[in-house]
Formats: sequence, C-alpha cells, structure tokens
Amino acid sequence: MSVLQPTAADKSPLQELEAALQQRVMARWAAWWARMAAEGLPTDLGALERAVEQFVHQVGQQLVAVLATAVQPTNRPTCGVCHAPLRCVDPARPITVRGIFGDYRLERAYYVCPAGHGSATPADAAWGLGPARVTPRLAERLCRLVVEVPFERAATLAAELWGVAVDGETVRRVAEGVGQVAEATEQAAQAAVRAGQVPAPTGPGPAGLLVALDGAMVHTDGAWHEVQVGVCQALQPTARGTWEPTGAPDYCVEVGSRTAFWPRLYAHAAAAGVESRTCHLIALIGDGAHWIWEDAGAYFGGPGKQVVEILDFYHAAEHVWAVAHALYPADEAAAAAWADPLVAALRDQGPAPVQAALAMLAPPDPAAAAVVARERGYFAYHADRMDYPRYRRHGLPIGSGTVESACKVVLKQRLSQGGMRWSRVGAQAVATLRAWHRSGRWAAFWASRPLTQRVPPKRRCAA
Ligand SMILES: [Zn+2]
Repeated sequence: MSVLQPTAADKSPLQELEAALQQRVMARWAAWWARMAAEGLPTDLGALERAVEQFVHQVGQQLVAVLATAVQPTNRPTCGVCHAPLRCVDPARPITVRGIFGDYRLERAYYVCPAGHGSATPADAAWGLGPARVTPRLAERLCRLVVEVPFERAATLAAELWGVAVDGETVRRVAEGVGQVAEATEQAAQAAVRAGQVPAPTGPGPAGLLVALDGAMVHTDGAWHEVQVGVCQALQPTARGTWEPTGAPDYCVEVGSRTAFWPRLYAHAAAAGVESRTCHLIALIGDGAHWIWEDAGAYFGGPGKQVVEILDFYHAAEHVWAVAHALYPADEAAAAAWADPLVAALRDQGPAPVQAALAMLAPPDPAAAAVVARERGYFAYHADRMDYPRYRRHGLPIGSGTVESACKVVLKQRLSQGGMRWSRVGAQAVATLRAWHRSGRWAAFWASRPLTQRVPPKRRCAA
C-alpha cells in the first residue's frame, strides 16, 4: 500500500512518510557518526569531504527509494486494448534502478488486464524511467559525458567522478536510446517541412540568417561516409550599415545521405525564422560541392529575400594550394611563394587575380596541366561566390571560422577520432545529442523526459 494512502492511525499520510524517513535517516546518521567518532574526525578537508560525501550518498539512496515508492500513482490504469480497468496483482513488485546515489530498490504496483492483454507498471512512466534501469538524472549525466567522450571512457569517468558503476555497453545503450528520441524530433520537424508546414520561429524573426554547411568523413556501417554539418545563426544590422552574427549558433548533423541534409538544415533555418517577414538576408556558406548550390535555390529565396551565396574561403584557398603543389610538387617554398600572395589577393580582391594567374600558367607536365584545367573550372564556376572583399565590407563571415569550427567542434572531435567505428543509427543519435547540447537545447530536452519516450509501446497494456 502506498504511504500516501489514508491509514487507520491518527497521523496524516505525509506525517507517516516523514516519520518513516526520519527513522531511516537517523539510523544512517547514527551509524555514520559512530564510525566517525571511533575513527576520529579527520582534520584534512579532503578526507572530511569524502566522509561527508559517503554519508550524503547513503542518505540520498534511502530518501530516493522511500520517496519514489511513496509518490507513485495510485489511480487504477485501464487496458490500452480493451479499456477495461486493470487488476492489481502485486502492490509491491520490486525493481532495482541505478541512480546518482547508487542502486535503489523500488516497489511499485503491478497490474494485469483481466482479459489477458498484458501487464503494466504505471509508476515506471510516472518516475520517468525507460527500458534501461537508470534514473533520469543519471542518464542525463551519462549522456552529458557521451556528448564529449567515447562510451568506455564515459563509464570510467562516471565511476571516478561519481562512484557510479556502469559499463561502456550500458552507457552506449542509454545514450543511443536517448539520442534516438532527440533524432525522432528532428525527423518530425523534417516531415512537417516536407508536408509543407514551415515551423514557426521560436523567437522574433531575425533580420538576416547565416546558414553554413560542411562535411567530414565518419566510419559508419563498415565504410567511410561523408557526414554533413549545418549551422544557422541570426544576423543583425549594425549602426555602420553592416551585418554581424548574433545569438547562439544552432547546429545539426546528418549522418545519412546528402539528399536528407537540405530538409534537415532547412527545418533548422525555418525554426530560426528564415521565412519570417523580418528576415531579408540569407547568407549561405558552403564548400565547392555542386549539389549544395544546385539544391539551395529550392529552399532559400523568394520575394523580399536576398540570398548571398558564399564559397567558404578556407576551401577556396585549398584550391589555390592544389595548383601550387601541382606546379612545384617537390618544392614547398616555391609552392608557398606562388600560393601565399594569391590567397591574400583572393581574400582582398576576389577571384580575379587567381583567375588571371591560372590563365597565364603554362603547366610543366600533363599531370599539372590536368590540375590547372580542373581548378580553372572551379574558379570559373564559383567566381560569383568568391566576392570576399564585398562580403567582408558588409560584415558577412567568409566561412573559415564558423564553418570549420562547426565541423570540427560538433562533428570531428567526437565522431571522427582514430579507430572510431559507428553504426549509422548510433552515430546519428550521438551526433544529434552533441549538436543539441552545443545549440543550448539540453535543459529543455531533458525536461521533456526523454527516457519515457523510449518505452516500447507494444509491450505496454496501459496507456
Ligand atoms: Zn485488455
């Protein structure tokens, strides 16, 4: 029976609960104090803190276990299939759950459908538990580690920092499951966009929006695949008549195909207010991949919106260097002497000096000639996206910083490290969790009780 239910005693349920807790806490206190008194109180602050921490953990374990059992729902659930009231066949079915104070042995009511449609323990959902027997608070901490470090390392850190014993496989299961909940939200936003519903911006529309994208290689399902990273950031006009990025950047990662990337990035841009009336400027920054620029027009533009396409400066500079290395394959100094002034000119004057230099070249051999021909094509195709002096005059980013850091910080540092092998689903789950963390969506996401959203519905009888 729940402690909160009325009893024959003259105490209220809350008083009953308080009395039960006090008894347990005082028993822990007495045992702890007796040991401290026998051993002698440490003068070292480190030892003192460690001893108090042990006590807090012991008391925390007791408090959570008793309180959780007390606050579980008492209303009788109905069957999800036949809607008949379920029958309680065990008022105190135990479950052991791992949390930040250790393992809690919790007891909750266990119901079955009289017509045999299945069973239910509604307390689990009320507590915010999912299929992994880990509390939401511990799950959040484990996921927070997984956002930064590999699963095995996260398990080691959990043990060292908080004394929580979990193995890498458990950490992986919890984090990937939670990441899939976040990813399901991403998918729903994209489905809405495909169905023609543009999400309303979460705040007032920006005056302009920076939309940047880049890719990196990640090993998924046995092979290397290019993974796309996108970032959206509001742009605001300054008193000098230029633009400047404002607010926090919003990141997204697509581990699947390129064709899935634009809908994902567009859903983020829409949530950032790209379609709002206030938004007049869209600055698109990407690398030289043709698919980016061929498909961008399907998503961005329209009446009252100016789209400025910017080829990421870092990528453009790499193409100047490709020619330099083809011309001087064995002479780094000579290659630099050729490339450095042209890269500077590209930034300060735009593509014309590079195109002029390429036009004048007489390549020494067929291999160099092939590179020069290819890069002439590259600089011709992208010339309109290389007006870097103009972008800089207007305060628009020319890439390097924003795009490179998005790719490095959000993607490479966690997913492309040496020896990392992923399933596509797992990589997407962790990438989305990391992107959401870096985009400031962490607290709101955990407030949505993601563990409960993992409960497989078909095994559940009650709604
Ligand atoms: Zn039923």
